[in-house]
Amino acid sequence: MSNSSLVNYTLISPNCNKPRKDSIKKITIHHMAGNITVETCGSIFAKESREASSNYGVDSKGRVGMYVEESNRSWCSSSPENDHQAITIEVANDGGEPNWHVSDKAIEKLIELCIDICKRNKIEKINFTGDKKGNLTMHKWFGATGCPGPYLSSKFPYIASEINKGLVGGSGSGSSSGSGSSGGGTGGSGSSSAGSGKGSSSSSGATAETSNKVTAYTVVKGDTLSEIAKKYKTTVSKLVELNGIKDANVIVVGQKLKISKGTETSQSNSSSSVQKPQASTKPPVSTAKTYGKGDKLVLSNDSLYVSATAKSATKKLSGTYYIYDATVKSGRIRITNTKSNVGKTPAGTYVTGWVNKSEV
Ligand SMILES: [Zn+2]
Repeated sequence: MSNSSLVNYTLISPNCNKPRKDSIKKITIHHMAGNITVETCGSIFAKESREASSNYGVDSKGRVGMYVEESNRSWCSSSPENDHQAITIEVANDGGEPNWHVSDKAIEKLIELCIDICKRNKIEKINFTGDKKGNLTMHKWFGATGCPGPYLSSKFPYIASEINKGLVGGSGSGSSSGSGSSGGGTGGSGSSSAGSGKGSSSSSGATAETSNKVTAYTVVKGDTLSEIAKKYKTTVSKLVELNGIKDANVIVVGQKLKISKGTETSQSNSSSSVQKPQASTKPPVSTAKTYGKGDKLVLSNDSLYVSATAKSATKKLSGTYYIYDATVKSGRIRITNTKSNVGKTPAGTYVTGWVNKSEV
């Protein structure tokens, strides 16, 4: 299996499975929910605590980054099954919410990259069906997320048809002339494709249900408050206040957050101690993040360990658990299965096990 020669920047992420368990059959296009360069995207995925990655990234200038080699499975689409079969691509936004616009340069390069991926992996045709059955998929079909956003979603029919043009006529060297980009321009601008994209998106459960002023966001794995705040142009302290969050470092998968929109963008509030959860900590040890004793955790197929230092997990665990005490060791916390067991001794009797703080 080879990688794309279109790559301008490489920073391999530790967040992947080697090798992928399935052959490459599809492409999943994501958006970064920010105007992020391929270098910055790489540095985000380089953090183990982020527990996320993609095979490639494309930024607004049309540069390409590689974070997970094609032979390996990225952690990108909230679906192991999809990601074992897919090349995943994160695309930068040059506009914010609600539309999450993507630059023409990024879309042009994305199409070129997809053509290259299809050719090398013998994907003969892209079949965009508007649902999981096709081989061009969207993150929001697999997880509680709005990704890849309205604008990019609306472009999927256009992107698919441009890829297919490149595959059919693609006996030449492809990228050299760049004829595909300008020629396809009229097709892309057609509002009809936007319409159909919107229609298909309504069938899935997108996260952000917007009413007039308040957006409800459902926390997904890998989220941090600071990233959610950035995404919705608000601040961590505002989210903490709005949702009565006791500890900005503890949000749980499935938790619903109220997000008040707009206007807070430039309010920095830098004196507050609740900013930037998980910022700049290299080893997750000893940062003494406080977890509320007895706080509820909803686990979703998370790894359970017998001790703080055990190398491999004993099993995967789902369901409702409680934080046994505030101790964080080697980045892990102890959990117990009922509220009444919280803090009870001997710990050996009442503790279910240890989970990675970054996972829950
Ligand atoms: Zn995504």
